[in-house]
Parts: sequence; C-alpha cells; structure tokens
Amino acid sequence: MESPRFVVVGGGPAAAAAARRIAEAGEPVALLTVEQVAPYDRTALSKDALLDPTAEVPGLWPPGATWRDDVFVRTRTPVAAIDPDAGTLTTDDGTMWAYERLVLATGAEPRRLAVTGAEGPGVHHLRDTADASALSGALTSGARLVVVGGGVIGLEVAAAAVHRGLDVEVVEAGPRVLGRGVPAPVALWLTALHTRHGVRVRTGVAPQEVVRAPDGSVTGVHLSDDTLLPADLVVVGIGVDPRTALAEDAGLAVDDGVVVDLAMRTSHPAVLAAGDGVRMVPPAGGRGVRLESFTAAGRQGEVAADTALGLEAAFTDAPWSWSDQYDATMQSAGVPPTEAEEVLVGGPEAPLVLSLEHGRLVGACGVSIGPGIARPVRAAGRAIEAGARVDLDALRAAGGDLPALARVLRDAAG
Ligand code: ADP
Repeated sequence: MESPRFVVVGGGPAAAAAARRIAEAGEPVALLTVEQVAPYDRTALSKDALLDPTAEVPGLWPPGATWRDDVFVRTRTPVAAIDPDAGTLTTDDGTMWAYERLVLATGAEPRRLAVTGAEGPGVHHLRDTADASALSGALTSGARLVVVGGGVIGLEVAAAAVHRGLDVEVVEAGPRVLGRGVPAPVALWLTALHTRHGVRVRTGVAPQEVVRAPDGSVTGVHLSDDTLLPADLVVVGIGVDPRTALAEDAGLAVDDGVVVDLAMRTSHPAVLAAGDGVRMVPPAGGRGVRLESFTAAGRQGEVAADTALGLEAAFTDAPWSWSDQYDATMQSAGVPPTEAEEVLVGGPEAPLVLSLEHGRLVGACGVSIGPGIARPVRAAGRAIEAGARVDLDALRAAGGDLPALARVLRDAAG
C-alpha cells in the first residue's frame, strides 16, 4: 500500500482521537499500534474488566462510522525508528512508511518495582488488555493480594479485588494514598471507604523484597519496616513513565515526556505528539505539565490532528478525570499548581476541594457515593476554563447540597 500522508503511532485515546479527526476531515490515515487490537478504552481495564472478566473492553470508535474506512489500522506493529528529516519511519519488520505529518502517541509504561523477587509469576502490572486478563485470571476468591502503590490504579484494583472476594492490603510509600494530585480530604475519605470494605491500608512503607517459595510462587512481601506480609499475589501500581525512546532516538526534544507546545508540535515541524507520553509547555514557558488523563489525551490527539491538517488549534481545556471505586466516584478538573490555595466545600458525605490561585479557580476534586459529585466538578471545569473567580461564601452556604454547589459554580463560569 502507498503510505498515506498522515501516520499515527499508538493505540490509546490520543492515537484514536487523532486518527479519527484526520479521517473525518476526509484524509486517509494509518494507525500503527503495538497492541493486538484497535484502540480501546484502557480505563475499563482497572474497573469493569476486573469486576467482570467476561466484560468486553469497549472500543474507542463508533462501529459503522463511515470515516472508519479511511483509517488503516496495523496492529502488532512496533515502530522501530523514525527519521523526521526524511519523513519516514520503519517498523520492526523493516517496512518503511513515508509520511507528511506524523502523530506520536506512544503513551506511558508502568514503573517496575526494583526489588528482589519483583519480576516473575504472581506479580502483576496493569496497562494493556493482556495485563488485565492475566490479572483478572489470578483474582481467586480467598487469595491474599498485596497492592503496591496507593494511587488511582492501586485503589481501583483493590476495590475490584474485594468485589472478587480477595483479602487485600495496600502498601503506600507516601504519608497517605493519592498523594499525587488528589487533595488530602478526598484521599482520606477514600481511605475510610476502603477500610470499611475490609482493605488494610499501610502508609509510609515500601516493599523490600517479594518473597517466593522454592517453586517460584509468591508467598509474601517483606516491607521496609521489617513486616512480612503474607501474600499469594502482588499488583504493582506505582505510576508510569512516558515512552519517549522513539522520539529521543529521532533527536526530538524530550524532558520526561516528548516536549510539545499547546498545538502539540514537537521540536520537529512534521511531527506532532499527544497523550500520556508528552510534556506540554505553555507559551509562557516553564517546565510544563505531563497529564495522565484519558479525556485530556483524547483532546490532545484532536489538537495534534488539527495542527497536522494545517488548522489553528490549541489545548486550552481543564483536564477532567475520574476514578470509580466500589459505588463511589472521584472526579477532578484542572491541574492546580502545588502552591494553589485549597478550600474545602461540600459536606462530609461528599467533600469537594477547590484550588485557587490569586482568587481564580484552577482545580476541583471531589468524591461521592453515586454520581452526585460529577455536576459540581463539571461546572468547576467550565469555571476553570473561563478563568473565573468563585463566590466562596455562596459555596459554603450550599453546604453538602451538590446541585446547589453546581449552580454556584455554573454561575461563576458565566
Ligand atoms: P498510578 O497511575 O499507577 O496509580 P500514581 O502516581 O497515581 O500512579 O500513584 C502511584 C503511587 O505509588 C503513589 O502514591 C506513590 O507514592 C506510590 N509508590 C511509588 N513507589 C512506591 C513503592 N516502591 N512502594 C509503595 N508505594 C509506592
């Protein structure tokens, strides 16, 4: 096949959105993914796919859409190298593809636990469908699971494992769970929820060794405080590192993520990049941000596609993310800087933390049983995008009434 003018590398939400946007514009596009399937909803892997092993992981493209005829998906196709000046890339079987514009959306890689015994059977990571089916198959009722890392992935796995009848302990190195980006009141609310479901949460400790029997099976996890936790299996959810090797080898600017501007341009004019693997630097400069958000990745993919098509585009959204654990949902909007002032509103049933910088709303994160928190967080997202100030007195007066909180935030957005 003759190479189309547009090539997308990746198989997640950023790649899917970029290919879709290009095809919708009437341009043929090739999508090369290392995975065995066309782009799918990875967020289901730590939720429904573990709760119900027979559940289908949803695809990211609507079936039957006519534009899909213009997307040429090549699965199991690792890209070995790109040559931006020549406008070519080579897959690992030696096939060369020419492109006019390339979108790199290679995502991120789960961090490995660097201790004795951490590699081998019984120790799981969670990133792709193969990981999810291996883990789901290992969630045997009555088994003892140690989850390493109290981040979003670790806590979602813990909730699913409880549902499947396992005995679960979470080991978090930091002083509390969800230390990265989730305000303390929300994190502590979720810790209490896990405790009520029988999960033991240990903080301030890290594994020193995954202990194995002579036959190689996992028998326990030896912690830094010398505790030996008995375990039959271990899940490691200690964050991700951006996959930047291709970009780095091609001479593109990389700084813990492929460096892009708000139009998703890399340091080479023919190459765009989007998703978990990029670091987005605003016009004002600074180190920029690396977002790990499904919705932000999709939006970045669209922006990359628009830029590749020669349109004016920029990522100006307040990134939105969510996590479902048991019957609770945590939602957040924006990327507040660490120095932002945090204000707790909402009630004990559903705390909502708003982050303010010079009086303007820059972040919101809350949690509720059921979907109640979604409306105020969505409204906060629009207020963040509008650069709005918020009426703290009106928010406090709303107390724990979530629709009332949403109204105040909607008014702020204007
Ligand atoms: P993820 O997306 O995988 O959930 P996060 O970065 O949100 O990633 O969370 C990872 C969590 O793992 C953080 O709370 C971090 O403190 C914790 N962590 C990192 N390394 C270790 C370790 N060696 N042992 C226990 N916890 C760890």
